[in-house]
Amino acid sequence: MTDKLEFVDLKRQYAALKGSIAQRMQRVLDHGQYIMGPEVRELEDRLAAYTGAKHCVTVASGTEALLIALMALDLQPGDEVVTTPFTFAATAEMIVLLGGVPVFADIEPDTGNIDASKIEAKITERTRAVMPVSLYGQVADMDTINAIAARHGLAVIEDAAQSFGATYGVGSRSRKSCNLSTIGCTSFFPSKPLGCYGDGGALFTNDDALAQAAREIRVHGQSARYTHTRVGVGGRMDTLQCAVVLAKLERFEWEVAQRLALGQRYRALLADVPGVELLAVRDDRDCVWAQYTVFVENRAALQAALQAQGIPTAVHYPKPLHHQGAYTRFAPAGDCPHSIAAAARVMSLPMSADLTHAQQDRVVAALRSALADTAASP
Ligand SMILES: *Cc1c(COP(=O)(O)O)cnc(C)c1O
Repeated sequence: MTDKLEFVDLKRQYAALKGSIAQRMQRVLDHGQYIMGPEVRELEDRLAAYTGAKHCVTVASGTEALLIALMALDLQPGDEVVTTPFTFAATAEMIVLLGGVPVFADIEPDTGNIDASKIEAKITERTRAVMPVSLYGQVADMDTINAIAARHGLAVIEDAAQSFGATYGVGSRSRKSCNLSTIGCTSFFPSKPLGCYGDGGALFTNDDALAQAAREIRVHGQSARYTHTRVGVGGRMDTLQCAVVLAKLERFEWEVAQRLALGQRYRALLADVPGVELLAVRDDRDCVWAQYTVFVENRAALQAALQAQGIPTAVHYPKPLHHQGAYTRFAPAGDCPHSIAAAARVMSLPMSADLTHAQQDRVVAALRSALADTAASP
């Protein structure tokens, strides 16, 4: 019997944590503080300690974390934010929602992350911030990006929705994603490396004033009850979702280690497969593989051939943002050629901490046979 292979397997994780999750949720149901209950602060303290950041502020989603980060930095209409077009829409969406202007810099063709050497040319007197994305779970070139930002007096927001648990720097210089810049933003969407059972997110900072601003903005700009000091949003994370993440933290270190090991194993298994190009991982970084993404040709046919063998795949992302209707006005078609090329070639394979070696072997065998089939038929 072959078990069904999920793109992201959350069932085994649930089976492993069922008791703790039930207990944590029951405690919330018993005390009844569904909004801003004690689990909210408990989770924030745990996540701040995990990342090493001074402050963690939980919010309603990863998207909300980006929005609140930009609001805390007081982004004004017309302000520019240099970012990557090769990302999920939320990154640029929150800039545009506030009247800001996303200025797209192209990616490194081998990692998919923003190319730091392309950022400085995009900076103008309207630039307020740089927003790199730690794509697929690998942190962008943050030292270089931070140095450029410091020279120009800009804030850096890391969109770390896919990289919670990833590290940057080697040995004693190793630091965690989310604690690498002015503000780090992550998502607890169920399929992200650290997920809840609905929507959730968090932002991280070492700046007391930004943390205070974020805490107020998330509750309609209140500095005290019914004292609206600034314009905010309804951006809290539910107590129940915080309870779920607290339970999931019990084996999160193990999950990160699993993800790193499974990523290494995919690399080894796919290294000599013709027609598959691996994503580069920099020597000073650990990638937590939010999804295991490779470059291929003839992607649609490959995906269909894999689906026929029961192997689900996904594309992160099929079009760069400046080729999406809502964002074409921010850059001419054809700009950022590496992003366009990557969007045509990326394909993500099943990945989760609970993926077994047998399942991984099945994926690789299916990919080999799919490649042979699609190469044979034009
Ligand atoms: C998932 C994701 C987001 C949005 O997170 P949500 O919690 O779904 O709102 C933002 N940016 C990137 C790069 C993401 O992958």
